Amino acid sequence: FDALPAVSFSIIAHIDHGKSTLADRLLEMTGCIPAGVGNRQVLDSLKVERERGITVKSQAVSMRWQGTLLNLIDTPGHVDFAYEVSRSLSACQVALLVVDAAQGVQSQTLSVLRIARARNLRIIPVLNKIDLPAAQPDVVLAQLEDVGLDVGSGGREEAISVSAKTGQGVEEVLARLVRGARTHKEARRQDMRALVFDSWYDPYKGVVALASVYEGTLRKGDRIASAASGKTYEVLGIGVNSPEPVSTGVLRAGQVGWLMMNMKDMSEAAIGDTLHHAHTKVEPLEGFKPSVPMVYAAVYPLQAQDFPKLEDAITRLALNDRSVTVARESSAALGQGCRLGFLGTLHLDVFRQRLEDEYGQSILVTAPTVPFRVTAQDGTERTIASPAEFPAELRAGHAELAEPVVRGTLMCPEEYVGSMMELCAEHRGEDLSIEFDEGKSGKRQVRMVYRLPLAEVVTDFFGKLKSRSSGFAAFEYEDDGYTASDLVKLSFLISGTPVDALAVVLHRSKAVATGRAMARKLRDVVPRQQFEVAIQAVIGNKVIARESLKAFRKDVTAGLYGGDYTRKAKQLGKQKEGKKRLRAVSFGRVQIPQEAFLSVLNSR
Ligand code: GDP
Ligand code: MG
Repeated sequence: FDALPAVSFSIIAHIDHGKSTLADRLLEMTGCIPAGVGNRQVLDSLKVERERGITVKSQAVSMRWQGTLLNLIDTPGHVDFAYEVSRSLSACQVALLVVDAAQGVQSQTLSVLRIARARNLRIIPVLNKIDLPAAQPDVVLAQLEDVGLDVGSGGREEAISVSAKTGQGVEEVLARLVRGARTHKEARRQDMRALVFDSWYDPYKGVVALASVYEGTLRKGDRIASAASGKTYEVLGIGVNSPEPVSTGVLRAGQVGWLMMNMKDMSEAAIGDTLHHAHTKVEPLEGFKPSVPMVYAAVYPLQAQDFPKLEDAITRLALNDRSVTVARESSAALGQGCRLGFLGTLHLDVFRQRLEDEYGQSILVTAPTVPFRVTAQDGTERTIASPAEFPAELRAGHAELAEPVVRGTLMCPEEYVGSMMELCAEHRGEDLSIEFDEGKSGKRQVRMVYRLPLAEVVTDFFGKLKSRSSGFAAFEYEDDGYTASDLVKLSFLISGTPVDALAVVLHRSKAVATGRAMARKLRDVVPRQQFEVAIQAVIGNKVIARESLKAFRKDVTAGLYGGDYTRKAKQLGKQKEGKKRLRAVSFGRVQIPQEAFLSVLNSR
C-alpha cells in the first residue's frame, strides 16, 4: 500500500439504488473479498444494518487497482443520518452517485448530491440496474441533466452504466477512479494534515481513529498533536482496512486508514479534529457541522436494578455514535433512565435496536418528543427536551413557546397530489409552493414544498405518506428554525397519581383527541380495584378527558365448589406466583402489569 497514488471516494445514493451491492462488486474485483458469494453487503457490518438494509456507521476500506489505492468510505443512505454522510464525505475527493436506472432520481439522490457539491467533490454518476427490463437509462440521464449534471459522453460528469448485480460496467467505474487519483507529489512536501472522521473503542487496541490524510506523510512513531486540544500523542500503530485491518506503518496524502495513539479516553479522538505533526503549525482542516438533536426519547431498563448496566451500554454506544446526546432522568413509575437526543426517528430506532442486539439490554423507550423552546420575558431561552421540563405555570405573556419546524419537499406522481395535500394539512402543514415537473423524462411529477412542525413529522407521518401514496411519495426535510406555537403539556392521572411517563407536550389543537384516546387505552389496561378508579387527562388543572373504572372485588376462589381447602390454597398460591412473575408498575394504590403499561406507552 505504501507510496501508491491514492484517491478517496464515497458511494452516495437513494436507499435501495444499489450502493452496497456496488461496493461488494468493487471489493470483489479488487480482490478484497472472494468473488461469487452473492450479495454480501460487506460494509454493512452491524446486524441492525443488515436487517434493515441500511448503512448507519461509516466505514472505510482500501482497495488496490492498477497501482492505485482506492479508499472507499461508506456513507449511510437515510435522511436521518445526513450528519454521518457529511462527515464521511469530508474525507473524500470523489463521489459515485448511484441512481437506479429504473426508478430514476429520487429525493435522497438530490439531498446527497447537494451535500457532495457543498464539499466540492468530483461527481461520477453511475446508472445502476441496467440489467432490469424496466431500466430507462436515457430517461434517467435526462433527469440528471435536469438537476444540473453534465452527464453526456465526454461531459465533465459523464455517466457510467452498470449492473452492480452482474458486474457489467463496474470495471469502467474502477478505471475512472484510477484516472482521478493524484500522485500527491506536492502534497507530500507539505506539512502533514489528517482529518479524524470516525473513532471507536476497541477492547484490545484501545482508542482507534479513522483518519484521512490530506497532505504529507504520517508514520508509526511520529509525535502528533490534536489541533482541537493541543494535546500530543505518539502514533503507536497505523494502517489501512482491506477489509481487515492491515498494519502499514505509514499513511500518505490521499490515503485513509486507522491509527492508534496513546489516547486514554474516547473523547480525545474527537471527530472532525485535525491531526498534525507536533513540531508544525497548521491551519485546521474544515470539519463539518456538529449535529443537533431533533428528536428526544427516554430509555428505561425493564427492571430498575439494571440501570447501571443500561447506562454503561448507552455510554459505550454513544461513543460509537457521536450524534447521540445523553442525559439522566428519572420517572416515578419507571425509576432511573436516560434521556437521549437523536437526529431523527429512524436514528432512534436503530439505536434502540443496537442496545438490544449488541448489548443485550431489555429496555422501554418513551414516545419521541422534539426540542421545544421557551423564551422568558427577560429574553433568556431554554430548550425543553422532556415534558417534565415544561414550565408548570405558564400565564399568557410570561413566556413564549416555540416549536421546531422543517421545510419539507414532497415528491409524488400527479395522481396522489390530493391525498398528499390532505395529509400535510392534517399535520398542520403550511404550503409554500407546488410545481408540476415535466422534466425531460416526460413523467408528470409533483413537487410540493411545505413548512411543517417537526413534532408532526416524527410521529407516524412517514407511514401515512407511504401508505396513502402506495409507496410512491418521497419526502425529505431540512431544519427551518423555530416558530411560535400554542403548546400545552398533557398529563395523565390514575386515581390522582400522575403517570409521568405518559405526559406529552403538544399543540393545543391536538390535545383533546390525544387525551381521550390515551385515557381510553389506559382504562383498558388498569385492573379493576376494590374502589373506583378515575383516569384523567389534564392540562394544568383542567380535566379534558375522563374515564372511570367501576369497583370490583375479584375472588379467585369463586369458581370452586365445596370446601376442598388444599385446592383453594393451591389456587391462592398460584395467584401469588403469577404476581411475582408479572412485574407491575404502581400508581398510588393502583398497580398495572408492566406488560400492559408498556403496550400503552408504545401505542403512541
Ligand atoms: P442500497 O440501499 O443502496 O445499499 O442498495 P442495495 O445494494 O442493498 O440494493 C438494493 C436492492 O437492489 C437489493 O435487493 C439488490 O440485490 C438490488 N440490486 C442492486 N444492484 C442491482 C443491479 O444492478 N441489478 C438488479 N437487478 N438488482 C440490483
Ligand atoms: Mg446498503
